[in-house]
Amino acid sequence: MSDITPYAARKERIDFGPYQAVVFGAPIHSWRAPRAVREWMRTLDGQGKKCAMFFTFGGFQVHPTHYSTRQILEEQNFSVVSSAEFLGVHTFNLGGWKAMKGRPDALDLEVAEEFARATYKRFTGEDDAVLGELEKTDHTEEALDAIETFRFNVLTQLPTRQGEACSLCMACEEICPTGAMQAEIGEADKGKCIGCLACVANCPENALKINDMSDSWAFKLELENTTEKGLKEKRSKIYL
Ligand code: SF4
Ligand code: SF4
Repeated sequence: MSDITPYAARKERIDFGPYQAVVFGAPIHSWRAPRAVREWMRTLDGQGKKCAMFFTFGGFQVHPTHYSTRQILEEQNFSVVSSAEFLGVHTFNLGGWKAMKGRPDALDLEVAEEFARATYKRFTGEDDAVLGELEKTDHTEEALDAIETFRFNVLTQLPTRQGEACSLCMACEEICPTGAMQAEIGEADKGKCIGCLACVANCPENALKINDMSDSWAFKLELENTTEKGLKEKRSKIYL
């Protein structure tokens, strides 16, 4: 398994030659795989290998993540056999949102097991189908980029060290997918940060803070035309 979250990890070239198949997993950021993941995927040579995709998300918009990621992978010479989306606690709960607390739950994990079984059959050839047609998007890359700015607008204070708790362990800098976090000064570089909050979630001293986003929670629900109850009723899903 390769964790390509850290910026340095995506600089190492991966030769897929020795592998029978590949599984790509990523969170969904503003309707797509994160920008850092999309850019990394565009550097790969799939060598015609079978692959599966899965995405984690905090309950909001999924489309066109499956469609657009498949496009990238097929352009890089992978054959996509399956995809899935799994619900989990929303990253912005770290700032006061209340999306998908307690997820994934037992039902989400059952869906994950089912996805693994179905994908394995396609990898081994027991089931020789590939991923069926996915809903297309009318959104241009530019329109999707504009949607992505919502993420940055809500995050008005990027991860910043507050208080004296920091042990200078450097974990935040090492995990940062874009090289934005500067552990020694305790601040994220605004030009590079994609708001993934991996640094905040992984700080062992809980020393990194962002702005309080709780005021935007009701607006987000309204924007998505949903409620907390509606979100909770969502289920993880497989695409075959
Ligand atoms: S992860 Fe936390 S404790 Fe470690 S260097 Fe970063 S801010 Fe400091
Ligand atoms: S939120 Fe933190 S880990 Fe994520 S890109 Fe910004 S500085 Fe890096």
